[in-house]
Amino acid sequence: MKITEHIQASNGKALFSFEILPPLKGQNIQSIFDAIDPLMEYKPPFIDVTYHREEYVYTEQKNGFLEKKIVRKRPGTVGICAAIQNKYEVDAVPHILCGGFNKEDTENFLIDLDFLGIKNVVALRGDAVKSETYFSPEPGGNIYARDLVEQISAMNSGKYLDHAMENGNKTDFCIGVAGYPEKHMEAPNLDKDIERLREKVEAGAEYIVTQMFFDNRKYFEFVEKCRKSGINVPIIPGLKPIATKNQLTVLPHRFHVDFPDDLISEIEKCRDNKEVHKVGIEWCINQSRELIANGVPVLHYYSMGRSTNIQKIASAIF
Ligand SMILES: Cc1cc2nc3c(=O)[nH]c(=O)nc-3n(C[C@H](O)[C@H](O)[C@H](O)COP(=O)(O)OP(=O)(O)OC[C@H]3O[C@@H](n4cnc5c(N)ncnc54)[C@H](O)[C@@H]3O)c2cc1C
Repeated sequence: MKITEHIQASNGKALFSFEILPPLKGQNIQSIFDAIDPLMEYKPPFIDVTYHREEYVYTEQKNGFLEKKIVRKRPGTVGICAAIQNKYEVDAVPHILCGGFNKEDTENFLIDLDFLGIKNVVALRGDAVKSETYFSPEPGGNIYARDLVEQISAMNSGKYLDHAMENGNKTDFCIGVAGYPEKHMEAPNLDKDIERLREKVEAGAEYIVTQMFFDNRKYFEFVEKCRKSGINVPIIPGLKPIATKNQLTVLPHRFHVDFPDDLISEIEKCRDNKEVHKVGIEWCINQSRELIANGVPVLHYYSMGRSTNIQKIASAIF
């Protein structure tokens, strides 16, 4: 089923969903199943699987020159999605990027997903390659997520890159896109970022999943601004329970999000990460309860490979 159909069928009851990362290359899929198994009790109608593009690794040679190697540390997004749909009979939602793909690669990737019976995708631009400061698109690739949404929407109408092709199979993807309650780091301001978000919806996106946030007011204000700007699709809040003290600096650096004062002081009082873990769970439970009270369609949790804290939150909420 499509995410939008799951939301419609829920009759206003908030749904539980989460995101997982493919394992590092060389590990087997059991680690993924071990993370998912304890969460199945809470009946997630869909599970997101992130996509990880290539990284450049430079190694010094005997002659002093640097050799550039291209490595993908977490391949397997499509395989994991197929395995999830097969094993758990829930919808798997692969993330798909502009970065690292030309439009032909994207088309072929989507054909694979369609043949596998995958009905939902989250369309993203992706970040810059780790060793580079700014994102640069692949030659012949999509530049912004909006362009990728346009390509997927075109395939949904049976239009492929080969314009001479007639009666192309009409795919039927439900397209999700990313939204940033605290603004995307490169956007000049939040209003402009929301204008760009609206363009993604106008291009065919049917729902939005937000970046993590730790202060619900940021989400409520964001939703209000989106509605005022004419965005009417579901806006799914993304939540992450904080688990270690160093995330106080790592998460703002990596995701450009703020922590509220109360959460900072609770975490600073903790003597070790076991205590931080507990504070993170309690904070996330309170966030979840308030979001549900305000009628959110789905609560989407970022597991980042660990499910014990998500399980505790789900057992308190769902
Ligand atoms: C829910 C979620 C899931 C994610 N999953 C993944 C994942 O699986 N793998 C991964 O690598 N990354 C993932 N990311 C990170 C994401 O790829 C980065 O945040 C990336 O920097 C932006 O992607 P986007 O799709 O939001 O980009 P876009 O919507 O293209 O926006 C990127 C920037 O460009 C601006 N912009 C948009 N259109 C235009 C235009 N026409 N002209 C000028 N500026 C414009 C926007 O305001 C924004 O600042 C995820 C993020 C979220 C919130």
